[in-house]
Amino acid sequence: MVKNKKDDSGEDLGFNWFDCPVCKKGRLILSKHIHELPDGDKYLIMKFECNKCEFTKNDLIPVETHIKPGKFILNVNEKEILKSKIFRSSSGVLEIPELEMEIEPGPAADFYITNVEGVLFRMKDAVSFFKKGLSEENQKVNKILENIDRAINGEFKFTLIITDELGGSYIVPVNEKSLKIEYF
Ligand SMILES: [Zn+2]
Repeated sequence: MVKNKKDDSGEDLGFNWFDCPVCKKGRLILSKHIHELPDGDKYLIMKFECNKCEFTKNDLIPVETHIKPGKFILNVNEKEILKSKIFRSSSGVLEIPELEMEIEPGPAADFYITNVEGVLFRMKDAVSFFKKGLSEENQKVNKILENIDRAINGEFKFTLIITDELGGSYIVPVNEKSLKIEYF
């Protein structure tokens, strides 16, 4: 079933029903809203809300020109570049080869907006969590954590690569020269 409603800006945004994956009884109501960032980037917020339980999920999709499938390679060779914005859709694979880190997409993967620094903090959390589960010291894990810390402080040069077969992911670099894009 599809119904339509209008948002504040008068744009006609449809909303659809889905079954709730949590309670299995409710219906997820999808609402869409266009949001504009202060710097002019626009994105679409899709919010799923169950009408029976507490389940909600947000997804965001850029609506400007950056939606094409491709490979985005950001060369992070100075601290300033850590402020570059990262938009990863649920189909985007994000990797930092020098840190041996890769974030795979999956059904549960949310779109997220952060900057390079935010990605490093997420990776640090994930590796620290993994380290806690180890019964003994692991030199390789320690080395990766050390390098993530150096990267956060701008003392470790690396490349951040997002490969998105479907499109939706993109990077807004602080410095245009630091980004290479290969559209598929
Ligand atoms: Zn529910």
